[in-house]
Amino acid sequence: MMENSQGQKPIWIAGPCAIESEEQVWATARQLYEEVQCYGLCLDYFRAGVWKPRSHPDSFPGLGEQALPWLAEIQSELGFQVCVEVLNPEHVALCEQYGIKTVWIGARTGVNPVEVQKLADAVSHKPFTVLVKNPLVADLKLWIGNIERFLQAGVHQVMAVHRGFPDNKENVLRNAPCWEIPIALKVYYPEIPILCDPSHLCGQTTYIPQMAQIALTYGFDGLMTECHADPQNALSDAAQQLTPAQWATMASQLKCPTNAPDRELVRQRALLENVDHQLSQLLWQRMQIVDEIARIKREHLLPVVQPQQWQKVVERYHQPEHDELYRHFLDQFLPLLHQYSVLRQQDDKPHLES
Ligand code: PEP
Ligand code: MN
Repeated sequence: MMENSQGQKPIWIAGPCAIESEEQVWATARQLYEEVQCYGLCLDYFRAGVWKPRSHPDSFPGLGEQALPWLAEIQSELGFQVCVEVLNPEHVALCEQYGIKTVWIGARTGVNPVEVQKLADAVSHKPFTVLVKNPLVADLKLWIGNIERFLQAGVHQVMAVHRGFPDNKENVLRNAPCWEIPIALKVYYPEIPILCDPSHLCGQTTYIPQMAQIALTYGFDGLMTECHADPQNALSDAAQQLTPAQWATMASQLKCPTNAPDRELVRQRALLENVDHQLSQLLWQRMQIVDEIARIKREHLLPVVQPQQWQKVVERYHQPEHDELYRHFLDQFLPLLHQYSVLRQQDDKPHLES
């Protein structure tokens, strides 16, 4: 595993979505411990959910306080720093009691500034490290505001965790990455480490290594990944948890930008800029042609939507060499293109709020 451009190693956090039993949390921790030794990695924090804010009341809510002594033992016996999600000041007090010094603020809590402030007050001027996940809503200012509350509370260390944003679309990923938001956060707070949580971002293990690599290439400072000794039987987030062995394989293969790839990255970005410029011009050109077609249709009283015509457009875009992900992209993109072409052809173009 390489170092990043600042010569620092990435921050690795791994562990189960939730603690389900003493055996399960110990099996996961022990396997992670062995993998870390085997690959010469360093696990900075062992994560484990103790109180789970689940959408449905019948879903597994976490074991609560009874799981904290196990974490305290893992911390002292394996030497891992442990971290848990806290939802209220009582949880903070319990963590303090069991010697757990790193906590995270979940995406659901993050939408409520009043609750976040209560948590900031609870950790104020105490030796806690606080990880602030992005709130469920794609609102950079809210995320910044949450982080600011902990900075103002004078906590020992604050880190940000990007886990993506729900967008209610049928996408390959569980959450939309909206990479521009965490990147803007990094620009705003260059000193605050920003990690990516590829598990919640992806919702399934298939894309985790790719997303993790994208995050590191974008200069993220590390990863928080869900790991379970027996993911198939996990009581929450079963589809997105890696085994400790899978996690270690991924961690040892990921690449952080060093100077040489940095230069290559700059080059590729320049190429991308050029393509984006052309794409923008072409799309605008396309809209202007659509306007011209609209004029002709109006003159000849032809209907705006001609389904066979649109089918031909769709066929034109699809090529045999496209991979599945790109076909999926076209399935999302082409209806949008069509929708805006139709809007442009209406007599009264809708007034769109900016
Ligand atoms: C978690 O990390 O277990 C979790 C619940 O994450 P999020 O708040 O990002 O959904
Ligand atoms: Mn989870």
